[in-house]
Amino acid sequence: MIYFDHAATTPVRPEAAQAAYEAMVNGYGNPSSRYPLGKQAAQQREQDRKTLAKALGCQPGELFFTSCGTESDNWAIYGAVERGKHRGKHIITTAVEHSAVVEPIKELKRAGYEVTWLQPDAAGQISLEELKAALRPDTVLVSMMLVNNELGTVLPVAEAVKLVRASGAPALVHCDAVQGFLKVPFTPKKLGVDLLSISGHKIGAPKGIGALYVRKGLQNWKPLLRGGGQESGLRSGTEPTAQIAAFAKAAELGAEEMAANAAHMQELKAYLLARLAERVPEVWQLGAGDAPHILCLTLPGYKSEVLVRVLGDKGICVSAGSACHRGQASHVFAALPVGKPWKEGAFRVSFGGENIREEADQLTEALREAVDTLFPSMS
Ligand code: PLP
Repeated sequence: MIYFDHAATTPVRPEAAQAAYEAMVNGYGNPSSRYPLGKQAAQQREQDRKTLAKALGCQPGELFFTSCGTESDNWAIYGAVERGKHRGKHIITTAVEHSAVVEPIKELKRAGYEVTWLQPDAAGQISLEELKAALRPDTVLVSMMLVNNELGTVLPVAEAVKLVRASGAPALVHCDAVQGFLKVPFTPKKLGVDLLSISGHKIGAPKGIGALYVRKGLQNWKPLLRGGGQESGLRSGTEPTAQIAAFAKAAELGAEEMAANAAHMQELKAYLLARLAERVPEVWQLGAGDAPHILCLTLPGYKSEVLVRVLGDKGICVSAGSACHRGQASHVFAALPVGKPWKEGAFRVSFGGENIREEADQLTEALREAVDTLFPSMS
């Protein structure tokens, strides 16, 4: 099998699985328990928080564990509007956000919030001029992702934050950095954001663990779940210590290897593009694809669902846009100002550190064969 779908999820690193195993089998105490087994679990959890904070470039006290990136996004969005409810009811976001941001914001729109959706250009990029023009004295939330999961575009979050602050709008700025964490260099502080979401299963940890960064000093941040008072009373629920341990281990290793991995994936991406240009000139690149691990391609005139199935039958895993769409047309491609055949033929190749050139060669030949055997309009 050839796995080219790392933006959907990543294989769990053996070291992360081992850390989870240790936490489950030996360090299984409840971190809230007062005897040594519990205290040991609490100490390990704090050690893991420190490790993750170091990889992200923030303080341990600014990180709150959640169950996934979606939960972090939802908490950030609902929390920001709750905090700003006496200041206004205007939200700014982009039309290319993940559904974990889009859906809560649509819900807020139904509840009476006014929403400005910043539209992408053909490369998937968002205009700072449009953001500047949209900012208002009643804007309480600006949510902009760091790396788009379908196109790989890196959005200008740091510049956006500067515009928000200069405008005097009372907005909190949230960044969905689920696809950016350990793929492109940043720290929440350098971006200047108030809130930032990350997820474990995109970096070699298992599914079921994420975190929300909440800038130190942010006053009046409300709990997401109320109960036993875990996570400083902000997100109750017995901590999933095994997933936390795995998240920390994957982040630690990912941070050490980030520069080398990014260079490897960029090189592989350039190699694949060169091979495709030679062997399958019918394939085009969609979007800027700035992030090292994501490459969005399209075969205009072909249907990407069919293509993904044909490649899947050959043991090659790529994705027809975001895996979260469950067969529905992607809102990201819908927003992209390119022709319908380009949108319908779009598929995503996303790399990991373990991918090699031979796999890119096999994908190239499988695409050549697909183009030769599938009839464009009937594919
Ligand atoms: N945000 C982005 C940009 C993503 O790519 C994803 C997952 O695909 C999510 C949020 C949701 O993360 P999770 O799967 O951990 O809920």
